[in-house]
Amino acid sequence: MRIAPVLKGLLAALPLLLCASIAQASDFDIVVLGAAGGLDDGTLSAYLIRPEGSDKGVLCDAGTVLHGLKDAVKAGVFKTLSLKSATLTPEGEILHATIAAYLISHAHLDHIAGLVAISPDDTPKPIMALASVNAILAEHIFNWQIWPNMGDKGVKPRLSTYRYDDLTPEKPTPISGTSLQVQAYPLNHGGVESTAFLLTSSPDALLYLGDTGPDAPQHSDHLHRLWQAIVPLVRQKHLHAIMIECSYDNSISDSHLYGHLTPHWVEAELEDLQQIAGVSLKNLPVVITHVKPTLRRQQDPVLRIHEELEAGNTTGVHFIMAAQSLHLRL
Ligand SMILES: [Zn+2]
Ligand SMILES: [Zn+2]
Repeated sequence: MRIAPVLKGLLAALPLLLCASIAQASDFDIVVLGAAGGLDDGTLSAYLIRPEGSDKGVLCDAGTVLHGLKDAVKAGVFKTLSLKSATLTPEGEILHATIAAYLISHAHLDHIAGLVAISPDDTPKPIMALASVNAILAEHIFNWQIWPNMGDKGVKPRLSTYRYDDLTPEKPTPISGTSLQVQAYPLNHGGVESTAFLLTSSPDALLYLGDTGPDAPQHSDHLHRLWQAIVPLVRQKHLHAIMIECSYDNSISDSHLYGHLTPHWVEAELEDLQQIAGVSLKNLPVVITHVKPTLRRQQDPVLRIHEELEAGNTTGVHFIMAAQSLHLRL
């Protein structure tokens, strides 16, 4: 007698459960607005990420914004967007209508310069970041001395174009206006707090890391704990890609990393993830970001780092080197 209602409930839920189990995986649409880890002010870290088929997404870091949008428009990567403004340029319309929020990993200038520059002509948006990062923006950037206060905290008057949205570490937070949610994981960037953002459009997930050093030389366990957190997604094949920095080639010694990774350390960290997960990472897309350009007459650091990554690719992941206006569906 008491079991009947339970059975009835289960039967009613069966179509939903079946739908969930056969739901098609949906990819992420990534447009690189800026790829470099410094020096080149026309292409500093900025990645526009949307759930496939959606016009709304987030900008992970904002080192280069308007220049990156113009370049990407010219390259034709926004052809699928329905742009219809009679008054705005395509890049203006994408800035206003497509970027729903900024996710800022840390407040180094190569991650925020484009945001500061575009802010007077931007529409109201949240800046979603760890509390320490938002506090630096409010105190040291949008403070009327470095730049007008475009935020909703700090020195008055507050123009409030941007709403500081402090993320609680690891807590899933919906991103308003999109189907995405984000979880922030603190990273150790040579003693500076940086952030990894796990974006999910259930059940699909994408992991974007801001600048980070490797665990061992920093005597830290931030990356190890991040890998532990994403293990269920790796095992269930819901993790579509990892976007991770590799600032320098293997010739840089550990004492000169300044909180960054080399191909050697990228491999070591991926091996750690694979070991914890207990499943192969073979063919997992790994997008390499934040390569530092050089002024020396030598091989392009992007090519050199790609060669070194492939030479030591023990996990069999699929390395993709970020480049401005590169359009990925992962
Ligand atoms: Zn950086
Ligand atoms: Zn940095």
